[in-house]
Amino acid sequence: MSTIATPMKLYCSLFGHKYEISKKVTSHVKEYTCTCCKRQLTINGNGNLVELTPKFKEINAVLGEIYSRRRLKLNKKTFEGELYLGNAV
Ligand SMILES: [Zn+2]
Repeated sequence: MSTIATPMKLYCSLFGHKYEISKKVTSHVKEYTCTCCKRQLTINGNGNLVELTPKFKEINAVLGEIYSRRRLKLNKKTFEGELYLGNAV
C-alpha cells in the first residue's frame, strides 16, 4: 500500500471525489472510479459504497459471471425449457 500525496488527492480531499461508473457488474452492483485520483469504489452486499479492494474485485468478477450466466440461462429457458436446463446443470 503506497500513500503518495498527489495534488489530485488533495483536490479530492478538499472538494470531494468525482466518481463515475467504470464497470457495471450487475443491475445493482457497479464499480466507480474517481476521475481525479483514480480511487475505486464498489457496492457491497449490504448496498453500501466501499473501497474496491482486490477482494471486492474478485467478488465482483464472480458476481458478474453469475449474473451474465443467469441472464443467458433465462434467455435459453424461454427459448426451449428442459433441454437447455439439463445442459446447464
Ligand atoms: Zn478522488
